[in-house]
Amino acid sequence: MERDIYDEDHEAFRDVVKEFIKRYATDEKRKQWDADGEVDRATLRAAGESGIIGLAVPEEYGGAGMLQDYRFRAIVNEEVIGAGLGSLAGALGIQDDLAVPYVVHMGTDEQKQKWLPGMATGEILGALAMTEPGAGSDLRGIKTTAKKVDGGYVVNGAKTFISSGKTADMVVTFVKTGEGNRPDAFSLLILENGMAGFDHGKKLEKMGFHGWDTAELSFTDVFVPEENLIGGKEGLGFIQLMMNLPLERLSIGVAAAAAGEAAFVWTRDYTLSREAFGQSIADFQNTRFKLADMATTVDVMWAYIDRAMLLYKDKKLTAEEAAKVKFWATDREWELLDIGVQLHGGYGYITEYPIARAFLDARVHRIYGGTNEIMRDIVSRQIVGKR
Ligand SMILES: Cc1cc2nc3c(=O)[nH]c(=O)nc-3n(C[C@H](O)[C@H](O)[C@H](O)COP(=O)(O)OP(=O)(O)OC[C@H]3O[C@@H](n4cnc5c(N)ncnc54)[C@H](O)[C@@H]3O)c2cc1C
Repeated sequence: MERDIYDEDHEAFRDVVKEFIKRYATDEKRKQWDADGEVDRATLRAAGESGIIGLAVPEEYGGAGMLQDYRFRAIVNEEVIGAGLGSLAGALGIQDDLAVPYVVHMGTDEQKQKWLPGMATGEILGALAMTEPGAGSDLRGIKTTAKKVDGGYVVNGAKTFISSGKTADMVVTFVKTGEGNRPDAFSLLILENGMAGFDHGKKLEKMGFHGWDTAELSFTDVFVPEENLIGGKEGLGFIQLMMNLPLERLSIGVAAAAAGEAAFVWTRDYTLSREAFGQSIADFQNTRFKLADMATTVDVMWAYIDRAMLLYKDKKLTAEEAAKVKFWATDREWELLDIGVQLHGGYGYITEYPIARAFLDARVHRIYGGTNEIMRDIVSRQIVGKR
């Protein structure tokens, strides 16, 4: 089904992304990222030069100023994931969907001046650290403390599963600045790579996204100047996290739709070219029916997600609506990739094939950004009322 949410500017931007991939994100590079466990900085700087990272950074700070128009980010996802480069899509996504928004929407003028120009060029990379070894879904259970001292805070604690955690220059970190677990007991502090007492633990070995680092972080008496308190006011951290939830959930839904569509395209092309019993695999009725199911799911998925992107553009996408998008799209993505792997036969299990890599990458989409159970909990509470 033809989609109609993109105009000429979006399509011109798509050409830029395609050109970037052709020049800087080859399959050779992809193999290197997988071997190194991270995307190299030169590629991310090239993304900055091409104007495909830091899209939400306002023009006055050197960015593209595409604050609410998520369609440009969707195009990056469609092209990068469609090229079988899930790790690169992830690294770009952390910067644009999880780090930049906190500075753009909630940062002080000083913070914007310090961080945004470099985030737009890809020279400064950001990450967001909420999860701890003992607290993921239940974020109010975090133990990392930031104690007020003269001129700043002293931070102690640990974070885990932090995407781009090893490579990031700055980490927006969810900390306790008050007692108990009331919303105003939390703040967001920017911790900078190289601060004394800020250590990166081991890079975690994962099922998928092999070229995108996920790290443990530890903080021992890290002094963080008060200028690094997001928004310049204590006790806002929980509300600030809530404010970015629609974008975070939408972004995962969009990545899931891009991967679901890619699964369909790869599977259609593969089954048309592969032969068995004297005919192409695509000619078996089972395959044709599965391809029909996949194509229809992809259409429905985009119709829903395109609508969500437009709602987001008009600042009308609620956290609950975004939760629906996140769990529904990632569940569909998983089904599409599973069918795709099956129709590739043995090759579907071989990670040289993009369908196998995307399948492994996709598994975490149902876990991070809030698990799909938590998303259903949020949606169902809205239906039956808070209990
Ligand atoms: C590759 C990867 C990258 C990540 N990147 C980041 C990152 O950049 N920054 C960051 O802060 N975090 C990140 N995370 C962490 C991720 O967001 C958490 O893993 C996730 O929120 C779940 O938390 P948990 O692992 O502690 O699981 P738990 O909260 O312990 O949940 C375990 C199980 O219990 C279920 N459960 C929990 N509470 C409820 C409930 N109320 N009702 C029903 N079921 C429930 C969950 O759905 C899940 O199935 C990442 C994780 C991974 C694996």
